[in-house]
Amino acid sequence: MADRVAPLDLIDVDSLHSEEELQIRAVVRRLVADRVRPYVADWYERGEVPVRELAKEFGALGLLGMHLSGYSCAGASAVAYGLACMELEAGDSGLRSLVSVQGSLAMFAIWRYGSEAQKEQWLPAMAAGDAIGCFGLTEPDHGSDPASMKTRARRDGDDWILTGTKMWITNAPVADVAVVWARTEDGINGFVVPTETPGVSARTIKHKLSLRASVTGELVLDEVRLPADAVLPTARGLKVPLSCLTEARYGIVWGALGAARDCLDTAIDYATTRVQFDRPIAGFQLTQAKLADSALELEKGYLLALHLGRRADAGALRPQQVSVGKLNNVREALTIARQCRTILGANGISAEYPVMRHAANLETVLTYEGTSEIHQLVVGQQLTGLSAFAS
Ligand SMILES: Cc1cc2nc3c(=O)[nH]c(=O)nc-3n(C[C@H](O)[C@H](O)[C@H](O)COP(=O)(O)OP(=O)(O)OC[C@H]3O[C@@H](n4cnc5c(N)ncnc54)[C@H](O)[C@@H]3O)c2cc1C
Repeated sequence: MADRVAPLDLIDVDSLHSEEELQIRAVVRRLVADRVRPYVADWYERGEVPVRELAKEFGALGLLGMHLSGYSCAGASAVAYGLACMELEAGDSGLRSLVSVQGSLAMFAIWRYGSEAQKEQWLPAMAAGDAIGCFGLTEPDHGSDPASMKTRARRDGDDWILTGTKMWITNAPVADVAVVWARTEDGINGFVVPTETPGVSARTIKHKLSLRASVTGELVLDEVRLPADAVLPTARGLKVPLSCLTEARYGIVWGALGAARDCLDTAIDYATTRVQFDRPIAGFQLTQAKLADSALELEKGYLLALHLGRRADAGALRPQQVSVGKLNNVREALTIARQCRTILGANGISAEYPVMRHAANLETVLTYEGTSEIHQLVVGQQLTGLSAFAS
């Protein structure tokens, strides 16, 4: 038997990275091997995950708000952050979601649009994993079309009164602080809401068949009284929460590759040891075709992610380019996961192997942070100059 080459080594992607990037990748890969892989199938089956414990461990390694600077954040490059997302999602999409929501949504919103006092109050604690954040944009009746949101904030003297319901909010039931988007008489504004404030409650969403190693909730804001300085002072208009989503989607471009890589590694290991008709199933041409096609898509997705990461580090990444990456890499990761599942036969549907878990998770990843259809429309608008969104 000839030597085996790992899918991403086929085109030698390591040669495209600096030593520092490879070291960061190795550190996160080890963390996932030690602290995630042995436990994640059980968390997934029970639908329970030790978010606080993990957040502190991720914080200690500098993974929370990793690409932000100052306020105890690591100030890493976009590529290094992407590699961390890839390794985390090779463990489970739920854990990458924890890091994305904390760093790219909640912390980024405060870091980019918050007052100095808001930054000082929240960012160091969030970077350490001592405070958990969530990001409330989606509502029960408004997902892809957040411009129609019903959540309202009105003035009462100097205070704000916030009322509405946010749905499908990652970490809402365990969060210490929620960044909530609401309509005011000036348009859409962001509010920093400590979850202990009277009138704030969160219900855990049960019965999920995807992203089970992640806590998801409904966030209810019932006449929540907030001080004048709860508003994010420089956040005006829908483009602001959308800019936060661009940050998080960039992490998904890399993260989805991690899930796909783990599926492919598992399928190759399985196929080389599973014997049918007196030979390893990896020796059948149909199996090799699946593995080869999957490896190709993984490699192409990697080159795309790296290109976008280098553009981000050069300060030149546009949101539409992130849509290209999210649309392609999540869609292809899902195809790879499904192909790999077939290679494992009946074992492919078991939680003893990670493949079905990744495939189920990727169904969420396909939908959140802009559905695949919405990203097609973004790309379509770029190509034609015509918006297919507007009613
Ligand atoms: C596990 C999980 C965690 C999440 N975490 C968060 C979070 O932390 N914070 C947050 O704010 N949100 C979160 N979300 C919500 C997520 O962002 C939304 O589910 C997503 O934006 C889609 O909205 P929707 O589910 O309401 O679907 P809808 O908007 O109702 O869409 C349903 C279908 O219609 C299609 N569609 C809609 N409009 C168009 C159009 N113009 N043209 C063509 N097709 C269209 C969609 O593509 C989709 O296929 C999470 C979701 C999940 C599942």
